[in-house]
Amino acid sequence: MKYDVVIIGAGLGGLECGYTLSKNGLSVCILEQSPLLGGCLQTFQRKGNTYDTGFHYIGGLADGQHLNRIFNYFRLMDLPWKRLDEECFDEVIFHGKSYAFANGYERFIETLSAKFPHQKENLKQYIATLSEIGRNIFKSFSPRSAEEFFQSKAFTQSAYDFLNETISDPMLRNVLAGTSLKMELHPQKLPLYIFAQINDSYIQSAWRIEGGGMQIAQQLAQHITSQGGIVRTKAAVTELIEENGIITKALLSNGEIVEGATFISNIHPVKTLDLVKESKVIRNIYKRRIGNIPNTYGMFTANLQLKPDTTPYLNRNLYIYETDNIWSYYEYKENQKKDCVLVSYQTPEKGEETTRNIDLLTPMTWKEVAQWEETSIMKRGADYEKMKEEKAAECIELASKRIPLLKENIERIYTSTPLTYRDYTGTYQGSAYGIQKDHAQLAYTMLTPKTPISNLLLTGQNLNLHGVLGVSMTSFFTCAEILGMDKIADELKINS
Ligand SMILES: Cc1cc2nc3c(=O)[nH]c(=O)nc-3n(C[C@H](O)[C@H](O)[C@H](O)COP(=O)(O)OP(=O)(O)OC[C@H]3O[C@@H](n4cnc5c(N)ncnc54)[C@H](O)[C@@H]3O)c2cc1C
Repeated sequence: MKYDVVIIGAGLGGLECGYTLSKNGLSVCILEQSPLLGGCLQTFQRKGNTYDTGFHYIGGLADGQHLNRIFNYFRLMDLPWKRLDEECFDEVIFHGKSYAFANGYERFIETLSAKFPHQKENLKQYIATLSEIGRNIFKSFSPRSAEEFFQSKAFTQSAYDFLNETISDPMLRNVLAGTSLKMELHPQKLPLYIFAQINDSYIQSAWRIEGGGMQIAQQLAQHITSQGGIVRTKAAVTELIEENGIITKALLSNGEIVEGATFISNIHPVKTLDLVKESKVIRNIYKRRIGNIPNTYGMFTANLQLKPDTTPYLNRNLYIYETDNIWSYYEYKENQKKDCVLVSYQTPEKGEETTRNIDLLTPMTWKEVAQWEETSIMKRGADYEKMKEEKAAECIELASKRIPLLKENIERIYTSTPLTYRDYTGTYQGSAYGIQKDHAQLAYTMLTPKTPISNLLLTGQNLNLHGVLGVSMTSFFTCAEILGMDKIADELKINS
């Protein structure tokens, strides 16, 4: 059988494309290398507990908000979403001093200006910019407003310069950027657009999912199947075969061939180009250009299994810092101890008041693990295990400043590094958020879904914006290359 569309990778981006295209009557086949769906949404089970790997929380899911509109479209709103504390969904802690992020623009300004009264007007300006950029997210669906939008300061200004211009108190600047371990804070590069979209969406509302993020992938796969699409796991694509300037077949690791009219790659552009082993269309200069774009840092995660009934559930995230220099995690620093950690509590099932699992996340550059890059899962050696133990201990030390009995209550620790992501999800260099976007080189770093091969499209976090909101938006841009942007806007009821 020849499919209308063959999709490589069942991460969020691949699945969302599969959903939209199969909903519109196209025959779709999604090929996922792993036994599990979801890529960075994957969860794993140990001793009856579920652990999230990447995804932990999302924003903008309340009625009328952006992700609500998108998840209604994907029929994901009936999953067990749990809203975080509206008075404080994120608590940012610098050297033991706490600052609450509250939901709603007014409440956000009031809460923080209670701690920074002299910055109230600055905070209003900050929120005005974030909310305006957030409001305009669907503008990119109309070619005329898109052009204007892409030339606006959201894209041409850096997040760092924006914060410096808007907020005069350096501590408040740190606090406002302090929930941003969910993106790579790079002072010279990070576009305001990314900072604003992500922060705005969480300020609107913040949500966890009970039972793990992989349910998003599983539910999308069920919908795709019910719409006539095929979702296959353990189907690693090893080559995309080009004939007469277009891709005609995907070759799988078991030798099987899957034919299609159009191919969408949900994997990193560098790895996508590697799959096209012989091409008359792709020039080396294009390959070099894509290969030379740096990638964002990876993440080190310690999933802590806790003794039963010991640790009260906290319906917020903690961002704990023992530094003031939060804009340099993209740099490799030899022997640097971890001085920041994101603490995420797993939503207890059955309404229990204590949690069995806390995840600790901290940035980890590729260089920190590069010496083990030739090794494979479970065979990386004692020095790698020792490094992971040390990093976990550093993260636990930080988290213990806010959760005093944490150390005593840990039963087991599972750790992962950028190498784990590379080997389980095929993430290039274990990068957490894909290609590093640069406001000064936007055309070069913010890729479009198109490739030099006319029937090979890209999707996923490496293009426009990462995270659940960003990848969802990107999936629409990719599908628009096939269905047309008007159709996508209609589907999402953008203009109605
Ligand atoms: C530690 C961490 C924490 C995060 N936390 C959050 C959060 O709290 N909230 C949020 O919104 N976002 C979060 N993100 C970001 C978010 O999870 C990602 O942006 C998003 O899930 C990426 O989706 P994707 O479809 O682009 O790619 P991926 O999830 O990487 O999917 C790519 C898929 O392709 C498959 N694949 C690769 N090679 C092949 C091949 N040759 N053949 C077949 N299949 C292949 C992979 O196995 C994978 O399933 C986090 C990310 C990380 C790493």
